[in-house]
Amino acid sequence: EVKNRGKNHYMYYHQELKKAMSRKIEIEAMLRAALKSDGFKLVYQPQVDLDSGQISGFEALLRIKESRLGPDQFIPVAEETGLISEIGRWVIREAVAQIVRWRNQGLAEKPVAINFSNRQLRDKEYVGYITTLLHQHHVAPRFIEIEITESILLENDDQTRQFLKALKDAGLAVALDDFGTGYSSLNCLTYLPVNKIKLDKSISEQFLQGNRIKVIESLILLAHSLNLKIMAEGIEEWDKVAVLKNSDCDGIQGYVFSKPLEPAEIAVIYNYNLLTKPPQ
Ligand code: C2E
Ligand code: MG
Ligand code: MG
Ligand code: MG
Repeated sequence: EVKNRGKNHYMYYHQELKKAMSRKIEIEAMLRAALKSDGFKLVYQPQVDLDSGQISGFEALLRIKESRLGPDQFIPVAEETGLISEIGRWVIREAVAQIVRWRNQGLAEKPVAINFSNRQLRDKEYVGYITTLLHQHHVAPRFIEIEITESILLENDDQTRQFLKALKDAGLAVALDDFGTGYSSLNCLTYLPVNKIKLDKSISEQFLQGNRIKVIESLILLAHSLNLKIMAEGIEEWDKVAVLKNSDCDGIQGYVFSKPLEPAEIAVIYNYNLLTKPPQ
């Protein structure tokens, strides 16, 4: 009886493991195909400046064309397989190309943020790759912002600092993404060369009500005292916009203003004031 159950459990885990592995292999194949045949695209989510209501910049978010698979599912596979390096280079090329396209449509350049995986830290030529690319397309480095997450800090402190410093020395902006979800949050602010912190959605959800707003207010004060910009991410409701504005938060990125959009849709709202109603 016991032996039998053991065997069933083994069969169960064996089946699950097989399923997970074939799922991974499937996603890996999708990623390789996308790299080969122009199968990726970027969508852009506006970041809104709370003083002016203007779009201050965008976050570029990766999608596989004609696929409902989200980056939360395929980025981990890209990281495990090492494909992230090549994908990361495609992302930066495409973001720069898009900045140039908007410019050619007569729109004033605005910063585009791209996400960066821990694994890309080991790509020693990455900083040079970006600066060459920017130079070729006459895009000033400050129009690219690199988003890193706190988990990067647990990897290798010294290497990380050097990498980020190289980015900053080259004139790029660096943002600390998903702030508040990790362990080293407060400490790392004092020594990491970053320009901006992005409060994670979970923090805004937890701390934007009642007297817990004090926590957010303190974080905003702390950021400003360290000369950092602070932006709240994942904001979906208007009442939170007012609270954050009153707390002197610099910006908001969230569904309340816009979901990530196609470049053509972005061009339409490029110069709107999103704190007022859009023109009819
Ligand atoms: P992230 O960098 O924290 O990006 C923000 C995520 O929150 C995006 O999900 C965005 O669509 C979503 N979001 C924004 N506002 C709201 C809101 O008001 N409500 C809700 N519920 N969600 C909101 P997405 O596009 O699915 O990306 C998920 C994660 O995948 C990103 O989190 C980022 O870590 C990663 N990722 C996306 N693109 C890339 C990329 O090109 N390279 C790398 N390495 N990672 C990427
Ligand atoms: Mg991000
Ligand atoms: Mg985030
Ligand atoms: Mg995230």
